Amino acid sequence: MKSARSTFDVAVVGAGMVGATTACLLARSGFSVIVIESAEPAVFDKNGDVGLRVSALSPGSAAVLDAAGAWKAIEDQRHCPYRHMHIEDAENSASLDFEAPAFGMERLGTIVENELVQGTLWGILQSLATVEIHCPQRVTGLQRRESSVLLELDNSQSAEARLVVACDGAASSLRELAGIDHETWEYNQQGLVSVVQTELPNPGTAWQRFLPAGPLAFLPLPDGRSSIVWSCPSAETQSLLSLDEAAFNEALSLASGQWLGPVMSSGARGAFPLFMRLSREYVSGRIVLIGDAAHVVHPLAGQGVNLGLADAAALVETLLAERASGHAPGASSGLNQFAQWRKSESQLMAGGIHALRSLFMHEGLGGIRSLGLKLVSRSWFARETFLRRAAGQGRNAPGLARGRSLHALATQNDAD
Ligand SMILES: Cc1cc2nc3c(=O)[nH]c(=O)nc-3n(C[C@H](O)[C@H](O)[C@H](O)COP(=O)(O)OP(=O)(O)OC[C@H]3O[C@@H](n4cnc5c(N)ncnc54)[C@H](O)[C@@H]3O)c2cc1C
Repeated sequence: MKSARSTFDVAVVGAGMVGATTACLLARSGFSVIVIESAEPAVFDKNGDVGLRVSALSPGSAAVLDAAGAWKAIEDQRHCPYRHMHIEDAENSASLDFEAPAFGMERLGTIVENELVQGTLWGILQSLATVEIHCPQRVTGLQRRESSVLLELDNSQSAEARLVVACDGAASSLRELAGIDHETWEYNQQGLVSVVQTELPNPGTAWQRFLPAGPLAFLPLPDGRSSIVWSCPSAETQSLLSLDEAAFNEALSLASGQWLGPVMSSGARGAFPLFMRLSREYVSGRIVLIGDAAHVVHPLAGQGVNLGLADAAALVETLLAERASGHAPGASSGLNQFAQWRKSESQLMAGGIHALRSLFMHEGLGGIRSLGLKLVSRSWFARETFLRRAAGQGRNAPGLARGRSLHALATQNDAD
């Protein structure tokens, strides 16, 4: 049986933060969209405790979420802006600090809960007339046709779209069905996450310390607690997960050097395997990969979802330009330009993060690390370049990330 509408402009497969943003941007631009998501999103409860999964979103990502219609509702519910970033090496005195006002910025970024971002976008999708949602449902097969792709769903229905956007995460089944290969670098590490209370409240600082076993980050939360990401070899993470709360707090106090005093309490703990994965292609015919389906990076720079949201913005911008030239989604060379643009941006970021991680993980390079941090901290140009890129608003960032509206992009294209 086929879906009620015959052929959609775009099928978005996977509605995590990246897929749901893509679907909102497309629908708000007038494209007809079918969303296929395998799991019902969790319901966000603003009176409940802070969730285990949070993200540091760049100003560029906030602008993209604003264009999707979600940012104000996210900020109204729960968020924590940060204006100071501190990076230090545990093995020597080298450190690097960034203050937002020094770079003419109101904030360096915002900490938000993943469930809040996805839940807000999901609510918007449900209210949009040009969106059809199929959830819980997964794609089990695909047939490429001349001017569309037919997706086979696990309830024996099917859906046809001119363009398929795979946003189904690191283990993307769409990537496999499309026959796109990838390269993976296993770090044999896990990122342990928890919400912790320290003696002193977190003053709104995104803090990171490079320990010999891996980086430890404290991200500020609105109530003065911190959300931590502690990267360690997998065996060490398993030991940390098995400690009782008092022993875990003590281990974390030691690892953090007590920059906010001892850790007084900590909540539930979870752990995620860490690896880098890069898809060889981002586009195959009428199938496009974005977000973690296209690239997975180590969370030490907090860039994974930021890269994915920039992909979403760049794709919508490309489709708007194509529409202005009279092309339906998926029909022309615009997709190849999109793929080149986003592949080079994400490879650059992934390579930089990988190199940074390697530098901090190799013993005996303490002198080089310390020199590197000192040089960057003394060079205004290096700090500004680093910051603009991390803010997601550099020269190659999509217009939506730099604050342009969907309307402005659509009408500019019409005028061109
Ligand atoms: C510990 C940790 C901390 C992090 N911190 C940050 C940070 O501070 N800042 C940052 O930018 N990034 C961070 N990241 C990275 C970030 O979490 C990911 O990049 C981001 O969640 C990827 O989003 P996505 O929507 O592409 O994929 P996902 O979140 O994986 O979403 C994929 C969606 O597709 C659905 N799906 C899967 N298969 C199918 C199918 N076959 N059919 C239909 N639907 C399907 C899933 O249910 C899911 O909803 C962190 C990662 C980790 C592990």
